[in-house]
Amino acid sequence: MTDMRCPYCEAECEVCHDDGAGYAEEVRHVHECHECDKVFVFETVITFEYHPYPTECLSDGSHEWEPSFTFPIEHTRGVCKHCHTERKATPEDMAAAFAYRAELASRAKLNGKDSHP
Ligand SMILES: [Zn+2]
Ligand SMILES: [Zn+2]
Repeated sequence: MTDMRCPYCEAECEVCHDDGAGYAEEVRHVHECHECDKVFVFETVITFEYHPYPTECLSDGSHEWEPSFTFPIEHTRGVCKHCHTERKATPEDMAAAFAYRAELASRAKLNGKDSHP
């Protein structure tokens, strides 16, 4: 992605951000074009992007829990797959966590067999 174009020759210019340079807003940064060697200034405008997604479970409490993948397994917590709310692991969460580990272990065994026929 090109940071900006030289206002003289339209060459693509990249802002050097070493040591955080060029990030300050409302400051005129001096830049010398590598193409035409003319000097111009630029101002940095930082934009934020937001990605909203619905979490109806936060409104009506209908969370869909799945176990976190935590080591050691005793520290497993229930995590809602929609809103990432955490809860103390219930017996169901722990059972799901153990089942998942067992599945991973058996898959690893299968893969081991495949690579050493
Ligand atoms: Zn230029
Ligand atoms: Zn939720």
